[in-house]
Amino acid sequence: MQRILVTGGAGFLGSHLCERLLNEGNEVICLDNFFTGRKKNITHLLSNPYFELVRHDVIDPFKFEVDQIYNLACPASPPHYQFNPIKTTKTSVMGAINCLGLGKRVKARVFQASTSEVYGDPEIHPQPESYKGSVNPIGIRACYDEGKRCAETLFFDYHRQNGVEIRVVRIFNTYGPRMLPDDGRVVSNFIMQALKGEDITIYGDGTQTRSFCYVDDLIEGFVRLMNHPSQTGPVNIGNPGEFTMLELAEKVLEKVGGSSKLTFHPLPGDDPLQRQPDITLAQKDLGWEPTIDLSEGLDRTIKYFKTC
Ligand code: NAD
Ligand code: UDP
Repeated sequence: MQRILVTGGAGFLGSHLCERLLNEGNEVICLDNFFTGRKKNITHLLSNPYFELVRHDVIDPFKFEVDQIYNLACPASPPHYQFNPIKTTKTSVMGAINCLGLGKRVKARVFQASTSEVYGDPEIHPQPESYKGSVNPIGIRACYDEGKRCAETLFFDYHRQNGVEIRVVRIFNTYGPRMLPDDGRVVSNFIMQALKGEDITIYGDGTQTRSFCYVDDLIEGFVRLMNHPSQTGPVNIGNPGEFTMLELAEKVLEKVGGSSKLTFHPLPGDDPLQRQPDITLAQKDLGWEPTIDLSEGLDRTIKYFKTC
């Protein structure tokens, strides 16, 4: 049994991770400020004596005697991270410093939930970990993209300078149960709009692409990377199946049925045109690849949204 801190543990991915770690017999401390997380995501864990919930903001220092730290605290949906962009950068940068400082003090391994956003609007396709990215440092996505890039820098400098054991994952668009219905991300938006019979909001002409990974596959990748004896990352984890937003809308409508119509809206600033992970490294070093395709993942997610 390990004692494990999960920052952002009440969020979409964090709640699945806490559950997985508890199921494996670990003790879990979930730290969250509930900006985009909710108690509802973790209510079923509260009665477990090996689960502790702490309301705290990662920009303020914290101390716990732990063996591992997963740092997931940060809003992930563009409307949420753009709501208070200065806070978003602080969360990524100060959150990383506080996790790494704690990791250094208690000799815990520290895991960073980084993102495909470090590649910006990529000129290389698909994106391997060696691609250095094309991020606009002054655009409306920069608070998130540059915050996550700086966090990666801090992880590798704490590793080189202080010998902190690190693991860095670059997550590509992930979806599944426990996303907020009004989160603003494309999968939850399209499903909720289709279920309510509202217009489907396509931004731009809908030809931009994303590669969607189902949450259970992603969490498997997290745990494999964290427990790998030597691979620090960065490692891409994502499903290489690539779809346009028009294709996604069609798939959702096909599954949900109903009378929703497609409507077209301006493309937000700096919205990447294409994204697809090169997962060669994850396949080779972690023996990881996704097992749940978009059709199966959408079925499971639609079922969740029907009941929430
Ligand atoms: P989410 O918004 O559901 O979860 C983020 C959690 O962090 C929430 O519980 C929120 O309340 C908490 N949080 C935010 N700011 C905080 C702060 N200052 N102090 C403490 N807690 C704070 O998003 P998610 O999809 O679960 O994403 C989790 C992590 O994975 C994030 O770091 C995100 O950047 C990263 N990520 C997610 C995706 C994805 O597709 N889901 C893609 C790339 C990266
Ligand atoms: N998008 C869309 N309609 C929506 C929400 C998003 O067409 O209602 C588009 C968005 O412009 C982007 C893609 O879907 O091109 C993925 O958006 P999301 O916010 O889910 O993730 P990110 O842009 O961070 O990859």
